[in-house]
Amino acid sequence: METNTLTQSKSFGLLPKLDCGACGSKSCNEFANKVDNGEEELKHCIHIADKLENNKSSKECFICAKEGAGMGDKLNWKDNLKRDFDFILDCFPNEPGPKETILPYNPTLVKELGVKKGDVMIGRPMGMSCGCPITHCGIVSGVDARNGVIYWNVTGPLKPRSEGFVDIGYYVSQAYEGIIKETKEKIEIGRRYWFLPRRCMLQWRHSGLVNAVTKLSDGSYKVRIEGLLIG
Ligand code: SF4
Repeated sequence: METNTLTQSKSFGLLPKLDCGACGSKSCNEFANKVDNGEEELKHCIHIADKLENNKSSKECFICAKEGAGMGDKLNWKDNLKRDFDFILDCFPNEPGPKETILPYNPTLVKELGVKKGDVMIGRPMGMSCGCPITHCGIVSGVDARNGVIYWNVTGPLKPRSEGFVDIGYYVSQAYEGIIKETKEKIEIGRRYWFLPRRCMLQWRHSGLVNAVTKLSDGSYKVRIEGLLIG
């Protein structure tokens, strides 16, 4: 992570240290360095934009008062539209981004386009699941050509811009897999929850049904979530 390789900048103390990526940088420290270099504006951190507007003289991020707290506590368990959520969904360590199972609106494209592991791909999760307005980019981690299903890790747009991409068009997001380290609710199989994917560009809550749970030795949960929607 860039946090280790970049010098800690003077703007860093003003940021909430959520490393959510919503500003387009991979970490708060990377973003802070850009602010210090004049390449970015502090207000592009969506978590502090309104606070900056209301309190221009502040020398300290309103969230940073909770230094050491998890992302959920820092956000008071409210998403960017002030809606309650139950847990944060993190991606698996050593994976490039959140893990998704997707079904293209035209599943024959999987064979027609020859989609394969390692491909850089873009598409938009239209309609019933999940209705997100943002085109997603990512790296294919596996393909089930018989069912027209693709497994991928969602990432930022840098790779597609520099390396080209396969455009799968509209798709339905069928499942998320990830780790729950922060929750304010008991995690149980069969329950529907509101959750915030840590790296959601909009920082909007999602809803889904947890249909596989493994409790890990460090107390976190490995989960699979289906029946997804945003709202
Ligand atoms: S948007 Fe997220 S990653 Fe970017 S500075 Fe704000 S908290 Fe950090």
